[in-house]
Amino acid sequence: MLDFNSRSQTSLHVNAAIDTALVAGNAATPPRSYLGGSRLGHPCERALQFEFTATPKDEGAGFDGRLLRIFGIGHALEDVAVGWLRGAGFDLYTRKGNRPDGEQFGFAVAGGRIRGHVDGIFAGGPTIPGMAFPALWECKTMNAKAWRETSNKGVAIAKPIYAAQVAVYQAYMDAAVPGVADNPALFTAINKDTAELHHELVPFDADLAQRMSDRAVRVLRATDAGELLPRLATAPDFHECRFCPWAERCWSLPA
Ligand code: SF4
Repeated sequence: MLDFNSRSQTSLHVNAAIDTALVAGNAATPPRSYLGGSRLGHPCERALQFEFTATPKDEGAGFDGRLLRIFGIGHALEDVAVGWLRGAGFDLYTRKGNRPDGEQFGFAVAGGRIRGHVDGIFAGGPTIPGMAFPALWECKTMNAKAWRETSNKGVAIAKPIYAAQVAVYQAYMDAAVPGVADNPALFTAINKDTAELHHELVPFDADLAQRMSDRAVRVLRATDAGELLPRLATAPDFHECRFCPWAERCWSLPA
């Protein structure tokens, strides 16, 4: 007779071992010493400042095993998508020299205090209406609900933080890859539940890139001056604050 209770115990033990290793590996990873270009579209500048200064998160607010597994699956799926696009005839560069050990494409500005790493650069490919080369590639994995919203409304409305990332990357990568800000980026969203793919051409939004660059400068300047940037909200029950890993700290500090 099958012992279902024992089987669920097996899951508990194996998952606990996996998650313990993931959390330990994450804890051993040195915090970023720079402001990530992919984060500049975060709605709260104070949260960005906490992130940039590696301010400890509230008790119990760090990444747990499940979240780290979600990140891991996302990275793995992005690698799968690279294979699909190359198989379809796209000349997609994800690392310098396109070698597995090559350095990831990216940028470093403001003395290396603002950096970003791009998912890829298209140097050529099949004829797609509106697409020209070189073009930036940005890929995200999403659950079905987020994917449906993104494919229906477009990335700029459904996921403004990703649209900001694309604009910033186009702006900062143009020096290294001339023309990448002249051509629309290709934004790919993978539905993790159904394997559906959404692809969207995103023209360069210079105003958005400038606004994000200005935010980055505000975060750096305030940090250098020892000042705390203002909160996003006036009450801790604001949606963004309820999920913020620095909420307790933030609301115990002066406005
Ligand atoms: S709790 Fe709210 S205001 Fe404070 S850093 Fe987080 S998101 Fe910003």
